[in-house]
Amino acid sequence: MKRGGAIIMLTALIEVAAAQDVPLPRPRPNVDAAPAAKIAAPAVLSACRMRLTPELAIAPSIDAVEGSGECGGADMVRLEAVVLPNKVRVEINPPAVLRCGMAEAVVDWVRDDLAQLTAFNLGSHLHSVRNFAAYHCRTRNNVIGAAMSEHGRGNALDVRGITLVGGRTVDPTDPQVSREFREGWKKSVCARFSTVLGPGSDGYHENHIHVDLMERRSGYRGMCQWDVRLPEAASPEIAVPLPRPRPNFELSTARQ
Ligand SMILES: [Zn+2]
Repeated sequence: MKRGGAIIMLTALIEVAAAQDVPLPRPRPNVDAAPAAKIAAPAVLSACRMRLTPELAIAPSIDAVEGSGECGGADMVRLEAVVLPNKVRVEINPPAVLRCGMAEAVVDWVRDDLAQLTAFNLGSHLHSVRNFAAYHCRTRNNVIGAAMSEHGRGNALDVRGITLVGGRTVDPTDPQVSREFREGWKKSVCARFSTVLGPGSDGYHENHIHVDLMERRSGYRGMCQWDVRLPEAASPEIAVPLPRPRPNFELSTARQ
């Protein structure tokens, strides 16, 4: 075939191919619509996603998390801040990757309980919540062979403490911190979450508070285990499981 003929054939082929794979100039509208980060836009927004608006929280959706085994989940968000009714933002530091339903429960708790408890008992306002662990694919308490932790489903949050406006940090497991504040914290999380574990629960929660939304059989009450200790327990020369006053001596020995 002559060169001119080949060019004509090639041109014709290109035209046919172009006509067949038409659906190209589609991306443009979506590129602008999608936020800059790798934020997923699920085809159908969950009811939780629709409720968790920017008026309540800065919590962009992220791609479904696929961990090994049973770990992971869909409808996950990165909870970066809770927006209080007065528009002040309380940071979650570092941001917590959670299932939307869990994030929503945390947001409600911070807005409706923790912020007020802080202002009322600590004489300053809440600035941030210190996230110790959120989504994390592991067994309970990292014990080999144990059941998978609710952390592996993005359904649990460990809180190390809070920071106040002005920079002071407050640890809810510290007996020197306002007892009313710690009791209020315990009462509020035990009312909202199905599992609460703190100091005195199992030895793994002496320096943080674990909350989750584990589903239990109907009629089964939630687990609320947090020994809000008296300030005397913090005396440095006394070991943590503390020698309690005489009357409890036999009881505490029996527990070991
Ligand atoms: Zn935990």
